Amino acid sequence: MPLLSKSELLDTIVSAIVDSGWNVLYLSGPEHPFQLQVYRQGESYRILVYIWNISHGGGAARPADEYRIQVTGTNHFQQQPGVKTLVLGWWQEIGVFAGFDVRKHSGVLGFSPSLQIRKPSLEQAAQTGFAPYDKGNQEIAIAFRPDFFGEYVRSLESLHDFGQSSQDLAALETVSQQPDVNTAELPVTSQARRTTVTSVSRKLRDAKFRKSVLAAYSYRCAFCGLQLNLTDAAHIVPVTHESSVDRTFNGLALCALHHRAFDQSLVTLWEDYSVRCSEEQVARLTASARHGGLQGFKEGLYQTIALPNIVSDRPHVDCIKLGNEIRGWLTRAT
Ligand SMILES: [Zn+2]
Repeated sequence: MPLLSKSELLDTIVSAIVDSGWNVLYLSGPEHPFQLQVYRQGESYRILVYIWNISHGGGAARPADEYRIQVTGTNHFQQQPGVKTLVLGWWQEIGVFAGFDVRKHSGVLGFSPSLQIRKPSLEQAAQTGFAPYDKGNQEIAIAFRPDFFGEYVRSLESLHDFGQSSQDLAALETVSQQPDVNTAELPVTSQARRTTVTSVSRKLRDAKFRKSVLAAYSYRCAFCGLQLNLTDAAHIVPVTHESSVDRTFNGLALCALHHRAFDQSLVTLWEDYSVRCSEEQVARLTASARHGGLQGFKEGLYQTIALPNIVSDRPHVDCIKLGNEIRGWLTRAT
């Protein structure tokens, strides 16, 4: 497996940020370490990223499943107030990152230092999205898939702090292996740790849902067929409702425009899979002279949604009924 150049590693980081639902700004040139701004919906983080390829530990004296990054080209990791410093490895073979805790490696680094992680953690992250690895001395490394990148940045310090308590680390390991576990029942040492565990669990479930829904619809909007990496996985019964489930049959792949229109109840799908535009909303928009583009919008909609090939992945009638009911479609003229 060829090793990636620094500019290829930067591309990998940027793709991961976008893949995890965040946006990115380049704050510096192509020089390593990379300075980026990661943001979405009112949340924003400035990050400084050190990254190297992950390779096998090598040498008969090292454990067979030990992998590592070899730190080259710098003798210390910069840390600045207001900036999150990421020390990452990338394993191209299975497409996962390893994140190391910069606070455990402050000061001048030794000669040609390396940071280790074990193969089972990397492999688990490829499967479930995320896996902590206990390095001992209260330090943990975190293996994660590209679609977890935004969550890793957001929770950087709090995630690595789980190394301080074996009880908390056990809870984090449980969530990484079983994202559906009830996090309210996991023993942890503080409310802050529970908040992080719950956030990780939610993110892992979201990522799984998104992946399965987008794959089921071949990354095409169910209402118009658009791809271009502009599709989201939308819940038919919204995630805030108690009956909502993270199953493909409660999902729809929708482009950004139609996701917004679906959430605003301007457009929906009916139980026979037909696509409907709300006449009541159209009348209201027309009355307030906000109906510009309506004709093109209507013409861009399929008459019936594009369905997944696998029958069990198709929107479930009960989900469609409940979704339409709680979005107000049955109480208004359509
Ligand atoms: Zn669309």
